[in-house]
Order: sequence, then C-alpha cells, then structure tokens
Amino acid sequence: MSGQADLAAVAAEVRACTRCPLAAGRTLAVPGEGNLVSDVLLVGEGPGQREDATGRPFVGPAGQLLDELLRSVGWERSDVFITNVVKCRPPGNRDPEPTEISACAPYLDRQERALDPVLVVTLGRHSLQRYLPGARISDVHGRLRQVGGRFVLPMYHPAAALRATALRETLARDFGGLPAALLTAREALAAQPVAESGTDTADAEVVAADDQQMTLF
Ligand code: URA
Ligand code: SF4
Repeated sequence: MSGQADLAAVAAEVRACTRCPLAAGRTLAVPGEGNLVSDVLLVGEGPGQREDATGRPFVGPAGQLLDELLRSVGWERSDVFITNVVKCRPPGNRDPEPTEISACAPYLDRQERALDPVLVVTLGRHSLQRYLPGARISDVHGRLRQVGGRFVLPMYHPAAALRATALRETLARDFGGLPAALLTAREALAAQPVAESGTDTADAEVVAADDQQMTLF
C-alpha cells in the first residue's frame, strides 16, 4: 500500500475504533489531517471539544494559535500533517491515561511510517514523551534532536501558551526556528546512510545522544 492509502486506511479504522475507553465518550474520533506527502508531522495531545465535534485536529482556540504560528513562518496547515497521541477526546479535556496512549499508539506508529516525515514537531508533554521519554519540556523545547531516522523538534503545547503569556513568546520563538530545523534535518538525513526500512517503531530506535542535539538560535 502507498503511504497515502495507508493514511486513509488508518483514518477509517480510527473512526470506528473501540480499542480503549475513550471511544465511549467521543462524538467523533479525530484521525488527523493535512498534507499526505509532507515531510513534517505535528503531534499534539488529544482532541478537545471542538475537535470532538468536527472530527478535525486543532480547530479550537489552540488550533487558531497553531495556524497563526505556522503562518508566522510562511507555512499553512496544508503544508504539514497534524495528528494527536490519542484520537478521541478525554472527558472534560483531562490528560490521556498511559493505557489510552498505548492503546492508540499503533495508529500513530502507522501514520508515522506511512508519512515517513523528516521532522516531527511534538506539541506538549505527552507527545514529547513518545519520542524523548523522560525529557522535560522546559529543557528541550526549541532544540532539534535526532531520534532514530528522524528529527524531533519539541514545542510547548499551544493551549499552554494560551494560558501563559510568557510561554506564548517562547512558543513563537521556537516556531521561528521551524524552517531552519527542517533544512537542517533534511541535510543531515541526506548525508547519512539510509536507515533500514520498516524498523522505525516508536520505542526501538530512540537515539537521543546529547552530541546530536543542536540549538537553532
Ligand atoms: N489540543 C490537542 O492536543 N490536539 C488537538 O487536536 C486540539 C487541541
Ligand atoms: Fe481507539 Fe485511540 Fe480512540 Fe482509544 S483513543 S478508542 S485507541 S482511536
């Protein structure tokens, strides 16, 4: 199956999924959307109220801020693919439980394999934990890291930035580094030997040595 067909297959399965208890409380599952051949994947936490009502990621207040941040670097939503670690809304927007995140992880694993992005932008803590377990967002935000055959750029969650003005400035600055991060990631991967295909599962290949870390500004 092509990457695009895989992404469509995952979306169809997510919409009908009952693999974890979040299925019971959702209106619509939110598989993710965007450019099916982008080399940038944005991963948030989980759907909020408006996402649950529409079936689309990041369409509420946090989504408006995300759109603004993308536009600030000359990008559009349609340039990237956007999804979440859990595809169904946690009741009252509580944090997703570890069991829910792991139940849902196979979908994100497949989306990642299908898209095969050069750069993954993590939005918030839960997404960060998937790629850099144990990392603290206050330490790593805005810094590009290689994780296996991809690069990861951790960001604060836009919803957190809506609650705290200081974070908003930090987030805007970190987003400012996005185009340069993508170029760096593309060039670095082009210069490296091709990784074995089919081995990019979430946990197996996390290589986050400090000497691979680059600060972008
Ligand atoms: N917050 C998220 O983490 N994801 C969304 O899709 C919307 C808000
Ligand atoms: Fe399925 Fe994920 Fe929704 Fe749980 S959150 S029901 S695993 S799609």
